[in-house]
Amino acid sequence: MQEHFSDSNQAEHFDVIMIGAGPGGIYAAYELTKLRSDLKIAIIEAGHRLEKRACPIDGEKIKSCVHCKSCSIMSGFGGAGAFSDGKYNITNDFGGTLHEYIGRKKALELMRYVDEINMSMGGEGTKLYTSIGSSFKKLCLQNKLNLLDAQVRHLGTDINYVVLQNLYALLEKKVRFYFDCPVEHLRVEEDGSFVVITEKGEFTCDECVVSVGRSGSKWLEKTCHELSIPTHSNRVDIGVRVELPAVVFSHLTNELYESKIVYRTEKFEDNVRTFCMNPNGIVVTENTNGIVTVNGHSYEDDHLKTQNTNFALLVSKHFTEPFDDSNGYGENIARLSNMLGGGVIVQRYGDLVRGRRSTKKRIEEGLVVPTLQATPGDLSLVLPKRILDGIIEMIQALDKIAPGTANDDTLLYGVEVKFYNMEVELTDRLETRIKNLYVIGDGSGVTHSLSHASSSGIFVAREIAQA
Ligand SMILES: Cc1cc2nc3c(=O)[nH]c(=O)nc-3n(C[C@H](O)[C@H](O)[C@H](O)COP(=O)(O)OP(=O)(O)OC[C@H]3O[C@@H](n4cnc5c(N)ncnc54)[C@H](O)[C@@H]3O)c2cc1C
Repeated sequence: MQEHFSDSNQAEHFDVIMIGAGPGGIYAAYELTKLRSDLKIAIIEAGHRLEKRACPIDGEKIKSCVHCKSCSIMSGFGGAGAFSDGKYNITNDFGGTLHEYIGRKKALELMRYVDEINMSMGGEGTKLYTSIGSSFKKLCLQNKLNLLDAQVRHLGTDINYVVLQNLYALLEKKVRFYFDCPVEHLRVEEDGSFVVITEKGEFTCDECVVSVGRSGSKWLEKTCHELSIPTHSNRVDIGVRVELPAVVFSHLTNELYESKIVYRTEKFEDNVRTFCMNPNGIVVTENTNGIVTVNGHSYEDDHLKTQNTNFALLVSKHFTEPFDDSNGYGENIARLSNMLGGGVIVQRYGDLVRGRRSTKKRIEEGLVVPTLQATPGDLSLVLPKRILDGIIEMIQALDKIAPGTANDDTLLYGVEVKFYNMEVELTDRLETRIKNLYVIGDGSGVTHSLSHASSSGIFVAREIAQA
């Protein structure tokens, strides 16, 4: 349905408004239109429609972030995951804590249902990997590593996009979409209905589903404060991205694609975990609010594949009191690396354990050809000792299941930081203390992944449909 702004002063009324067209909002709308075709539904999205989403960085004329009004990587139809690798993990072991609200069985059921939708929307034929029953589990346990149980549907960047195109084609017939329309304020009326105020106009609704993801975190924080909805600080994950020859990990990546492995350090009993594994992928920079951190990608297209595999090693930190700004802590560590390296720092593992900085020459002489141009430096000047010691211990443990991980030439890029939204206080219906106001997806702090965010959308749609 086309955008339509009323000419009269009367705000247009909807039964349900979703704020945000990421996986949370999209799958909520999918389920609600399926269950209740009688409802008048709108999705209001700050970013562009799918085909208009394009990041101007081309690596030649524009090399770094130019701070577009709406970031096409994070915002628009499809949300933050639109250009992602499309890894849908079916597990309660990571990706969010949805199961704490709705139960483990229900959460898994919903993730499988999301997978069915994806298969019917263009994803059929993509591979579902599983670590459940894998022989690597034993090997990991013998080396004090815990391989988490998960199934992962790897759609790949291209098919992920096709699924989104098909979902949009289906939904646009049933839902009113408003793009490039950031919501500025949310007001609760005396009768319990809502006024959604955007820079283009106002709308009203009986029920409101907020799914603004990570990019909407500042807005949501402000809105929760205005509406006296309690929030709690969340954790931050800090670490490095490891890059090594793909053959070192190929026995794992061929069978599992992505293995989520947790190691409990001997010294501090901290958990260090692998995150976002990219077989034959590239290391990339990420710009979050002007802070440059590191991330990784992989492509389906064989021409774009590299000889390297990369993955993050992360340690979680959660501050509560008197200091409770976990994200601020992570930001400042990232800033320190930006100050010393002018951006991302790269160091050979061998240099790190010998206590010396890497140089351009040492990296050029190494066996691993870096896929990201980063500044050779010393990560021990950036990362707190406790975190760095944990990462070194884990690399040594991984070397036992994937010999070569602890080679001198293995590259470590820093820093990688995963920021989490504050946790919004929610009922087991994912409803705030305000009746008919729901907060779902990554914005709620409950989910941090495509599968959990989508499932939270389906869950809330069913709650609304049966009310
Ligand atoms: C590069 C990248 C790769 C990723 N790869 C994976 C992966 O392979 N597997 C995985 O599980 N996860 C991945 N993730 C994480 C995943 O994308 C998110 O967990 C998921 O998108 C969260 O969905 P969401 O709907 O909660 O929020 P989002 O996807 O962030 O969507 C929120 C939407 O709300 C809009 N919005 C924000 N504020 C407002 C406002 N005030 N008014 C109106 N609209 C607003 C935003 O523009 C955005 O489109 C990746 C993330 C990135 C950035």
